[in-house]
Amino acid sequence: MIPKLIVHGGAWNFPKETEQAHRNGVKYAVETIYPLLLDGMSALDAAEKAVNILEEDPTYDAGKGAFLNEIGEIELDAMIMDGRDLSFGAVAAIQNFLHPVSIARKVMEKTEHCLLVGKGAQSFAQAEGFSILASEELLTERELTFFQKIQNDPSFRTYHPFDMNKPSDTVGAVVMDHHGNLAAATSTGGTARKKQGRVGDSPIVGAGAYADNQLGAVSTTGWGESIMKVLLAKALCDLFSKYSPIKAAIKSIDILEKRVSGLGGVIGINAAGNYAFAHNTPKMAFAYANGPEKVIAKIKSA
Ligand code: ASP
Repeated sequence: MIPKLIVHGGAWNFPKETEQAHRNGVKYAVETIYPLLLDGMSALDAAEKAVNILEEDPTYDAGKGAFLNEIGEIELDAMIMDGRDLSFGAVAAIQNFLHPVSIARKVMEKTEHCLLVGKGAQSFAQAEGFSILASEELLTERELTFFQKIQNDPSFRTYHPFDMNKPSDTVGAVVMDHHGNLAAATSTGGTARKKQGRVGDSPIVGAGAYADNQLGAVSTTGWGESIMKVLLAKALCDLFSKYSPIKAAIKSIDILEKRVSGLGGVIGINAAGNYAFAHNTPKMAFAYANGPEKVIAKIKSA
């Protein structure tokens, strides 16, 4: 099997001046991880490591650079899923960690559970040796300024970022390794000015990500409250068995739009190892490897 790797860096109306940073970030993640995948890295490791790179990049709403919630704090959600046996791990509303997706993986591998939230997730992460950071270490000037701007704006809605010039850049990765195993991972700071304790689609299995060797694997981004309602990642995995990958992706976005007036984007790989992507937001940032020498990185317009 020739390994496959596709990553995304959110779906919204990127202003021109932010496009380059978004394109470079996803490209760098693929360029860094794809050679390791060619050398035999597992799908699960590659999905986690690619997302780690994007969590570290302050361009995106994940790890460093995440949005602030209604009280000016950062709460992060993430999940990772293994297509071999459908095991997954997730964390939600977790604070002060740079790599929530790696904590999600530990939840999957070291506990009897699938999803840990808030304080419990934090204690678990600390017990597993993850360094707890001061809040300022995840905070960027950009997000503080944005928060101050929208904090008291009665017209602001959490879905606005997805069709307006306001940021929303959850990150995700979908991988097929040499053995044909699939994995998917997603990590986010959620939506701007969200309620404290709000959990979006990203750590919800079948919504923010899904991976099943028999169907395919998917990571999603967009307005979480709409994505959860249609379990967008699982919906696309199911559509893979009926349609070509791109057609399946478009159909999944149609369901999101027509059924719940949702906004978002999907990336995926079907069970045969072909890429899928679609979105109904004005733009989506993503990158994928088409062989060792060829990384395609795009800000695609709808
Ligand atoms: N889906 C994420 C959420 O609603 C946000 C995003 O994808 O940008 O939490």
